[in-house]
Amino acid sequence: MTGPHLLIVEDEEFIRQLVAAYLEKEGYRLSVAGSARAMHDILDREQIDLIVLDLGLPDEDGLTLIRQLRTRSAVPIVVLTARQTRDDRITALGIGADDYVTKPVDPQELTLRIANLLRRSGGKQSEDTQKHDVLVFGGWSLDISANALRAPDGADIVLTRAEFDILTALARAPNRVLSRDFLLDAISRDGDSPGDRVIDVMISRLRKKLGDDPRRPILIQTVTGRGYRLSVS
Ligand code: CA
Repeated sequence: MTGPHLLIVEDEEFIRQLVAAYLEKEGYRLSVAGSARAMHDILDREQIDLIVLDLGLPDEDGLTLIRQLRTRSAVPIVVLTARQTRDDRITALGIGADDYVTKPVDPQELTLRIANLLRRSGGKQSEDTQKHDVLVFGGWSLDISANALRAPDGADIVLTRAEFDILTALARAPNRVLSRDFLLDAISRDGDSPGDRVIDVMISRLRKKLGDDPRRPILIQTVTGRGYRLSVS
């Protein structure tokens, strides 16, 4: 049995070797590429389960590569880059990257993010851990694997993908305040760089669907200047 097959696209040899050594120890199969061209060559002949992608490559910008990849594949992509601004992160996530890690690389963090992503994407390691993930709060139940929200009275509530992702993020961290930035990350694979206002709009739609009074919300509370919190007793 072999582990998931990862492709590391990185032109700096030191980082490539560091990351490769670490991931190999974790039991992954690895291919490495030092350029966009080498990446395409490997993708043409190998079945890849996840790509770790540097944005600053000698022959092509990583953001262009993400766009190209997304036209033909849903393969999970973890960006690994020295670009640290919020705009870079939002852009990469907005055009379809699944996660974003900044340099200097922390190999342990990268490994955990890869493992999480493979689990969520139904990678080879996932089958037994992904069976049934249901989050329950105040009589509501949110079935992650079935993409379904059920009201306390048993009614099924239809949510958009972004509403679902926001509610999932809140329900995974009950009673904790999540910033708009954090919630933006939770939905940004759906559109290109949505603004913070989008979160406020989604929250007000969610409140409506959850029957929460917008002026005195009980379930999804606004924490002024900080973000939102799902309140669970
Ligand atoms: Ca580079």
